[in-house]
Amino acid sequence: MAESLRAVKGMNDILPPESARWEWFESKVRALMARYGYANVRTPIVEPTALFVRGIGEVTDIVEKEMYSFTDAMNGDKLTLRPEATAGIVRAMVEHNALYNGPMRVWSEVSVFRHERPQKGRYRQFHQIDVEALGFKGPDVDAEQILMCRALLVDLGIPMANVELQLNSLGQADERLAHRAALVKHFEAHADILDEDAKRRLHSNPLRILDTKNPAMQAMVESAPQLMDFLGEASLAHLNAVRAILDAVGLTYRINPRLVRGLDYYNLTVFEWVTDLLGSQGTVCGGGRYDGLFEQLGGKPTPAVGWGMGIERMLLLLEAVGVAVPAGAPDVFAVVPAAEAMPVAVALCETLRSAGVSVQMHAAGAESWGSMKSQFKRADASGARHALIFGADELARGEVALKNLRDAQAPQRTLALADVAAWGADLRNA
Ligand code: ATP
Ligand code: MG
Repeated sequence: MAESLRAVKGMNDILPPESARWEWFESKVRALMARYGYANVRTPIVEPTALFVRGIGEVTDIVEKEMYSFTDAMNGDKLTLRPEATAGIVRAMVEHNALYNGPMRVWSEVSVFRHERPQKGRYRQFHQIDVEALGFKGPDVDAEQILMCRALLVDLGIPMANVELQLNSLGQADERLAHRAALVKHFEAHADILDEDAKRRLHSNPLRILDTKNPAMQAMVESAPQLMDFLGEASLAHLNAVRAILDAVGLTYRINPRLVRGLDYYNLTVFEWVTDLLGSQGTVCGGGRYDGLFEQLGGKPTPAVGWGMGIERMLLLLEAVGVAVPAGAPDVFAVVPAAEAMPVAVALCETLRSAGVSVQMHAAGAESWGSMKSQFKRADASGARHALIFGADELARGEVALKNLRDAQAPQRTLALADVAAWGADLRNA
């Protein structure tokens, strides 16, 4: 036997029945986007590496050590599998001058790639729902985006008690600069505690030191000067306007002054939805405002705000809180005892399907045809409500047998072949 091949480490196959949970989740997302007026966009998985270096920031974890970058063997182009969705969407908007007629609300479902240490809730290929409002200054749109997340959590059946909304403001560039100077001073005064990562970032990106997971640095980080104290009037007003909306709709949140997010492009509003049910993979959704990104990527100054939700983590959270996702099952399972009945059975299944009934058939080559018993086992396992049995005797009389698989007491009955279409239509309308 040839050596077997395996999926790349940290990258998952999504097979039935798990895939049904994904489809159910996606249907909730699509309904949400329609309700909030967000249009779907799809951009390439592969982008020029420079897009992410410029867009995400050179000294972020993602760009420093998590990107799947490669050289196109055909022409030497430097390319990267997208590690996040926003930069690609902004590139597309700039390239196509898509905001020419005004601001846009868009969303995308994306697979993203990061070379991280795989564990539960953390993979090397994972999936996000990504939502962006482009060309809006806010703060109303900032609040809208946060409320969309809440609406989705509610639609999915996740109790609000199991999630927390954390909110912060990163202010504007000049405010961050003043804060940064104070931070560097603070870190320099505690140079003995800084780890290698922190030392390297001390002058390139000291804000990221606040995001450290090193326990030895926690106390030092907690006593660091807070950006909140450096915010000017306009930034505070923006934050307060977002808060006023959240308060008005009764959405509780916690101001987390240390929330900085892992990408460089954010300003003003940043937020995360976190849960304590998934260990250190507790952030299910994160986002914020990125008013400078369009310019950074060669576009006109364009205010924007967006969020990304990890689909795998949301599905884990659904499992953790015990939300039962409805399993997809056919309406009808066709049991075909003998090869001679197959043409009539297939024809009738087609009639039912065009009436909107979902039909699964026990189709197999002659050598693995399966006994009646094994076919009924499959019928039960399919979750179908009804079995249609194409027995030779019934067919000779122009009939088919009908068995209710959900009600063992219900007697088996027969249907005239000519009446099956009408029966199927009734089934649909029931
Ligand atoms: P974390 O702090 O957990 O690494 P992050 O800040 O890097 O998250 P974002 O870049 O904001 O995450 O991505 C948005 C969402 O994608 C996260 O909130 C999370 O739900 C999910 N996510 C991020 N990294 C992974 C991963 N490696 N595997 C699975 N889901 C992930
Ligand atoms: Mg991360």
